[in-house]
Amino acid sequence: MEKKQAEILKEKLFKPKKNGWENTSKEERKKILEFSKGYIDFISNSKTERECVKSFDKILKENGFKNIDETENLKPGDRIYYINREKNIYASIIGEEDPEKGFNMIGAHIDSPRLDLKPNPLYEDTELAMLKTHYYGGIKKYQWVNIPLSMHGVIIKSNNEKVYINIGEKEEDPTFTIADLLPHLASKQDKKTLENGIEGEDLNILVGSIPFEGDIDEKVKLNILNILNEKFGITETDFVSAEIEFVPSMKARDLGFDRSMIAGYGQDDRVCAYTALEALLTIQTPKRTSICILADKEEIGSMGNTGMSSRSFEHFIDKILEKTTGNRTGLKDKIFSHSRLLSADVTGAYNPNFSEIYEKNNESYLNHGISIIKYTGTASKGGASDANAEFVGYVRNLFEKNSIAYQVSEMGKIGIGGGGTIAYILADKGIDVLDCGVPVLSMHSPYEISSKFDIYNAYKAYTVFYKDE
Ligand code: MN
Ligand code: MN
Repeated sequence: MEKKQAEILKEKLFKPKKNGWENTSKEERKKILEFSKGYIDFISNSKTERECVKSFDKILKENGFKNIDETENLKPGDRIYYINREKNIYASIIGEEDPEKGFNMIGAHIDSPRLDLKPNPLYEDTELAMLKTHYYGGIKKYQWVNIPLSMHGVIIKSNNEKVYINIGEKEEDPTFTIADLLPHLASKQDKKTLENGIEGEDLNILVGSIPFEGDIDEKVKLNILNILNEKFGITETDFVSAEIEFVPSMKARDLGFDRSMIAGYGQDDRVCAYTALEALLTIQTPKRTSICILADKEEIGSMGNTGMSSRSFEHFIDKILEKTTGNRTGLKDKIFSHSRLLSADVTGAYNPNFSEIYEKNNESYLNHGISIIKYTGTASKGGASDANAEFVGYVRNLFEKNSIAYQVSEMGKIGIGGGGTIAYILADKGIDVLDCGVPVLSMHSPYEISSKFDIYNAYKAYTVFYKDE
C-alpha cells in the first residue's frame, strides 16, 4: 500500500523521462514508419540547398501553393511561396485573422556541411588530376576522406548559360574520393591531433588519371578538362563562376536490426526542414497566418542574401501584406511583436561512446521526442537567444495538450563547446522564438543518425504549432 502511494506520487510529481516507443500503439508505429520513408527518399535526393529548393518547389506546387508574384489579392486559405535565388524558400498559408495579431512561423535551414570547390580547383600532380576544396561549415576533416563523394552544383558559362551538375549519385555514375595516407606510412600523421591529422589543404579530390595524347605538359588535367568540355561545354575559367559542392554519395537508409533509426547525410537540418514543410501541407485555413522559412547559409553564420540575416524574409512579409490588408509603416514590427516562431534546428543527441562530454540530466536522447532548447550559445550563454519562460511555457503546454513527445536539454557540459541557430536573428525582430528540433547523433558527419520516433514527433509538433490560435 505504502509503495503504491509513493509510486502514484512519483508519477504525479516527477518529470516523465522515457523511451517514446514504449507507449506507441501499433497504428502509431505504422504511421511513424510510413512517414520516415518519405523523409529517407527526400534526403537521398536533395543533397544541396538548391536541390532542396527544387524538391520543395515540386511538393509545394503539388499541394496547391502558388508563386506569390503570380497572385493578385490574397484571402484566408490561400497558399503561396517565394523562392529566393534558388537557395531559400518562404511558404505560407494566409490566416483568417488580422495580420496584426501575429503569425505562427517555423524556420529551418537547408544548407549542410560539405566540401565546396575553390575557384581555381583543378590541377595535376604526379599524373593524377585533383580538385582543391574549401570546406563549408564545421566539419571534422578526417571524416571526409576515403568516403564516396558526389559532385553537385551549377556553373555559369561565359555566355551566362547555367549548367546544372549532379554526378556520382546514380549506380552507373563514376564516384570521387579523397585518398588518405596508408597506416603503414602514417606514424607521423598518427602523432598529430585529430584536428590536424587531415588539414584543410589535404582535402583534395581525386578525379582522373589518363593523360591526353600528345607531347605537352599537364596531359591528365587536359584530358579531364576535355571530358568536362565535351559533357558540359565548359572551360577551366568557368569554375570561377561556379558553385560546386561535393557531398557524401551514400543514400539514407534504415539503421538497426529494429529499423528504428535513419542514417544519412544532411539531416542537419533537412530533418527539420522536411518535417516543418510537411506539417505546413496539412494546414487548411489557419486562424493565424502560417509561415515556413527554409533558410540557406546557417552553417556559415546566416550571412549573405539567401541567409536568415538577409532582408529577403521581410521582403516576403511585405509582399503578403501588400496583397492582404495593405502595408504601412510600422505594421511589420507590430506583427513580429505578436508572432511566435519555432527555430527548427537539430541538436546533438547523447552519444554513449563519449559519456564524459555530457551532463546526463540535461541532454537530448534518441527516441525521447523533439528537443526544446531554451538557449544555445557558449559557457556564459554568450551569443544565445535565451527564450522567455512565458514562451517556453506556451510551447510545452501546447505539446502536452496534444500528446507530443518532447524533451528539454542543453548540449554537452558547460564550456565543452556550443553552437548556434537562426533563433537570435528572428528574436532580434521582436518575435517570440524557441529552438525546437530533432536530436541527431554524429551531427555534421557525412553519415548522421536520427530516430524515426523523434522525426514523427517533430512533424506532429510543428503541425499543432502552425494550427494553434
Ligand atoms: Mn543546424
Ligand atoms: Mn549545423
